[in-house]
This record gives sequence, structure tokens and C-alpha cells, in this order.
Amino acid sequence: MRIDKFLSNMGYGSRKEVKILLKSKAVEVNGKEIRDPKVHINELSDEVTVGGERVEYAEFIYLLMNKPQGVISATEDKYDRTVIDLLEEEEQNFEPFPVGRLDKDTEGFLLLTNDGKLAHELLSPKKHVDKRYFAIIDGEVTEEDGAAFENGVVLDDGYKTKPAVLKILKSGAVSEIELTITEGKFHQVKRMFQSVGKEVTYLKRLSMGPLELDPALALGEYRHLAEEEIERLK
Ligand code: URA
Repeated sequence: MRIDKFLSNMGYGSRKEVKILLKSKAVEVNGKEIRDPKVHINELSDEVTVGGERVEYAEFIYLLMNKPQGVISATEDKYDRTVIDLLEEEEQNFEPFPVGRLDKDTEGFLLLTNDGKLAHELLSPKKHVDKRYFAIIDGEVTEEDGAAFENGVVLDDGYKTKPAVLKILKSGAVSEIELTITEGKFHQVKRMFQSVGKEVTYLKRLSMGPLELDPALALGEYRHLAEEEIERLK
């Protein structure tokens, strides 16, 4: 890997910023000063230091994003901006992808990583990872809806959902609820409400497994997960 890409990936700024860092003579590879951004290194075996401090190579990246409406949770799209477009170059270099999908008009908790094994485990139907959503519903949500969701409802394609937990926060002509599901079928929350004759007009994911959406993140913002948070996901 090129030294500028390596340092950028390890959090030393954009390639442009890394170029300036290299010019400042702060970077050494195996004890030899390197100023050329095009120099290739072996990230696993070479010893890279910046200002005398060893730079440890990390292969994986784990990001928590507060996804805004209007962007697609995919790595590329022909027509629309994707969640990857919201990342800085440093993070894009790791080639992360979203763990599961949120609809274009859904907001909230989205995990991005390049750790395929972890992503696969989190999405595996066998794992039953809880996903909790807040939604605004056009129509009066009732305890009967809660009982129906607990027993499983039949979606428009004939699929019967696994037990889900409904918490009614506000019931009226417009209702507010929280729904916890353990699956990730296409448009699942919207289709579950459709099955009881109601429409979701706003949807936000609040949590996935042991992790909650960080209230410090504005829509479109993201942060790296702490080591301890990554461990909790595993
Ligand atoms: N359920 C939906 O209907 N949409 C989402 O984006 C996520 C869950």
C-alpha cells in the first residue's frame, strides 16, 4: 500500500494533508525518513512512525452514522447520493459498506464497516439481532395492533413476521410508537403497519443489537465506534 494511503487510512488526514506531513520529515519507515507519498510499504511488516510514534495498522473500520433522509444505504447508486458519499476520504479508503439497508426516507442508526464477517453475523436471521424503530403513524395505533405484532402479521407477499414488540407512545389520529423487530425484511416496519391498515409517515432507527443511536450525531454525521462498542457487537 502507498504510504500516503496508509497514513490517511490510519487517521492522519486526507492525502493532501498527509503529503504535507511527509514533507515535514516526520515520517519514517523502518527507521528511514520517507518524504515521497508514492513509496509503497508493507502495512503488516514495515514499522511506520510519525514524530517517533509507532503507527499500528488497523484493517477494519467501524462507523456509526445518523443517516439522513434522501440518501441511499448502498455503496453506489446511479441516480442518488449514497451514505458512502457522506464519508471523508480517510474513511472511504477502507471501502466500508452499510450493514443492512434503511429506506431512502428512513433516518437514524446505520452501521458501516468493511468487516464482512461481523456484518454477516449481525444480519444473519439466526442471530435475531434486535432493531428498534421510532415511527409516526397515520391512524390510531391500538393495543390490538400490539397483540397482532406479537403473534406475527402476514405481509403483502404472504410472509408471516416473527414476534415483535410494540410500544405506543401516543395514540390518536396521528400516533407515535416504538417497534422492536428481530428481522430485516424489505420495508418491514412499513409493511407491518400496512397489514393492520395504517401508514408509516416517518421512520427512524434507534438501535441495533447492543448499540444505540448517538444523540450527539446530527443527521448525516458519523463517528468511529470505540473498541468497547465493537466488542459488544461481536
Ligand atoms: N422498515 C422499513 O419499512 N424501512 C426501513 O428503512 C427499515 C425498516
